Amino acid sequence: MFSDDIASRLLVIGGGPGGHAAASSAATLGASVTLVEDQVVGGAAHLWDCIPSKAMVASSMRIRAIRNAAVLGVSDAGHVELDMGNLSSHVGRIADSLSRGFTEMLVSQGVEIIRGRGRLTGPKTAVVTGDGGDVEVTFDHAVISTGSRPRVPAWAQVDGERILTTRHAYHLDELPDRLIIIGSGVTGVEMVHIFSSLGSHVTLLVSRHHVLPYRDAEVATVLEEDFLSRGVELLKGSRACEITREGDVVTVHAEDGRSVTGTHVLLAVGSVPNSEDLGLDAAGVATDGGFVPVDEFHRTNVEHIYAAGDVTGRLPLSSVATMQGRKIARHLMGFEVRPLEYRKVAQAIFTEPEIASVGLEEVDAAAEGRKVRITKVPLAANPRALIQGDTSGFVKVVSDPATRVVLGGTVVGHHASELIAPIALATQGRMRVEALVETIMVHPSLSESIAEAAE
Ligand SMILES: Cc1cc2nc3c(=O)[nH]c(=O)nc-3n(C[C@H](O)[C@H](O)[C@H](O)COP(=O)(O)OP(=O)(O)OC[C@H]3O[C@@H](n4cnc5c(N)ncnc54)[C@H](O)[C@@H]3O)c2cc1C
Repeated sequence: MFSDDIASRLLVIGGGPGGHAAASSAATLGASVTLVEDQVVGGAAHLWDCIPSKAMVASSMRIRAIRNAAVLGVSDAGHVELDMGNLSSHVGRIADSLSRGFTEMLVSQGVEIIRGRGRLTGPKTAVVTGDGGDVEVTFDHAVISTGSRPRVPAWAQVDGERILTTRHAYHLDELPDRLIIIGSGVTGVEMVHIFSSLGSHVTLLVSRHHVLPYRDAEVATVLEEDFLSRGVELLKGSRACEITREGDVVTVHAEDGRSVTGTHVLLAVGSVPNSEDLGLDAAGVATDGGFVPVDEFHRTNVEHIYAAGDVTGRLPLSSVATMQGRKIARHLMGFEVRPLEYRKVAQAIFTEPEIASVGLEEVDAAAEGRKVRITKVPLAANPRALIQGDTSGFVKVVSDPATRVVLGGTVVGHHASELIAPIALATQGRMRVEALVETIMVHPSLSESIAEAAE
């Protein structure tokens, strides 16, 4: 329980989802909170990652829906034209509005926000360098939530014009004519979906045998089929090692000797933690490969200094950073906290079809040699899917054969990111499959396939 003798001057460095959640929850619980942020409150998540990428996904889905409307008897849907300027302003407006909302909420909760770069100068002291010079801050607890940025391999010279990272993808003057995307993880495939829907010719370099190498091959197959059907070229088993640019033409060279030419290259090859110049040494905080390792309560090796979000090297998702931040606030304020169960995090890939999963996947069960019951139905038989003309995908539920407790599931299909919710709830609540089977869902709805798949 919170008590007055628990020190409650909290310094949060970084105002992304992790830092924002920690600051907001701690302030609500009675801490005196200072948040330091050098860009915008909301962080990279609002400026370059979750929000802008999903705004682009929304536009690309709308374009695809209009183009494919003839299937539903809607012909002559009009000439679809992309306005890159309007798209860019739309993306910017959403980020601004969310960031303003986040800031106002923190201010109303009494959080002091200092604009500038924060750096620890000792175990309980920090300095913030901003426009007005240096401000010294002392604290009882601190949260490091400085996020991450796109990884740029040594062989790639990003110029923000033709050789890009995701940070450049949302405000381009014109749609890339022939875009080469390097990296076929979650970010890479979302970028393929966005730009191929908007009208770019896309080539994807896949370093392994299929896209999304760490997911069920079945999931990757559905996605690859969709990509191929829209003319995306997949260069499999191709690991990029050099990019050259001559005027407006860029060439990506692969280790196997192949090369591909385009107008733009987009790198989606992971991220690196923002942990340099943070004064972690001065405070005695250990790092590992740049990440800040934390225990089950998100404490670093220095007990009163916590870390949340991408900088910890745990599951790099905004939703996870937010939950970490909330749990940190409760822990440092003296409340009992249950460790976060990373396996039960629902996650989605915003392609078309969407791919969402939670808990144990078939691929994990196989790797662990664990006996599981897997039930699956294709969406092709679902009335709502047929009505909407979006029949690709499936629902799969994984349960324990002995207890029938739901262990996880996968949904591939339209709105999978929403449809995964009941399976996530059942997984989190350790419910038996009957909870899903006996729930009467709306008819006709895609959710009916969840009840059916659980049976
Ligand atoms: C293209 C892309 C799409 C994504 N889409 C999703 C999605 O759909 N769903 C999802 O859950 N996750 C998504 N993610 C992941 C998600 O964006 C991150 O996991 C999330 O942003 C991590 O939050 P964070 O709190 O660690 O920090 P960030 O959002 O990275 O914010 C950290 C903040 O700290 C500030 N900062 C850094 N150093 C200092 C300093 N010294 N002083 C002051 N301020 C500092 C930075 O300016 C930044 O504002 C996506 C990632 C990418 C790359």
